[in-house]
Amino acid sequence: MRLGVLALQGDFIEHIAILNRLGVEAVEVRLPGQLEGLEGIIIPGGESTTIGKLAVDFQLLEPLRNFGKEKAIWGTCAGAIFLSKDAHRNQPLLDLMDIKVERNAFGRQVESFEADLTVPALKGVSAEDKPFHAIFIRAPLISAVGKGVEVLAKLEDGEIVAAQQERLLATSFHPELTKDDRFHRYFLKLADAKE
Ligand code: GLN
Repeated sequence: MRLGVLALQGDFIEHIAILNRLGVEAVEVRLPGQLEGLEGIIIPGGESTTIGKLAVDFQLLEPLRNFGKEKAIWGTCAGAIFLSKDAHRNQPLLDLMDIKVERNAFGRQVESFEADLTVPALKGVSAEDKPFHAIFIRAPLISAVGKGVEVLAKLEDGEIVAAQQERLLATSFHPELTKDDRFHRYFLKLADAKE
C-alpha cells in the first residue's frame, strides 16, 4: 500500500518515519499529480492557515476534496482543522469532515499539554489495552460533530479530541510525536478498507 503525507508545511517528516517503520511506502505530496495511486493521505500538524494558503497556491484544494470522497484522509492537529467543514474563521478548508473545530482552544503555546486518553477503537489494531498518551500543541478541539461522525476519544472533561467519519479521521493531538503507532495502524486499516 502507498500512502501520501501532505508536505506543504508542518511535521510531515515524523509521519513518514512512522509509516516507513510500519513497512508502508510514504510519498511526500506537494502537487496534485502526486495523489495518483495513493490509498490515503495524512495531513500533518503545523499551522492550518499556512497549509490552507499553500494548498490553494499549489492548486491542491479541489484534488484533495475529490480524493477524500473516495480515499482515506487523516488530519492531525492543524490537519484536522483543514479537514473540517467549519473552523469559525475565514481560511481555506477542505470542507470534507462534518465537524466544527475551535482553534487554539486550550490557549497559547505555553498551554500545550499531554494527556492519557481512553480510545476503545484502538483495540482493533492491538491487543495492548493501555491509554494513548497524547501530545497537544496549541491544539484545536472538536466542538461539534455531525450525524455521520463517530467520536473516538474525549478528554476527562468531555471535550472531543478524536473523531471519524467513514474513511476520514481527525485527531487534535500528535500521534506522530510519540512512539505509540496505534493510530497510524488504525489509519492503515481505514486506507486499506475496500468498500
Ligand atoms: N494552532 C495551529 C492551528 O490553528 C495548530 C497547531 C498544531 O498543528 N500543532 O492551525
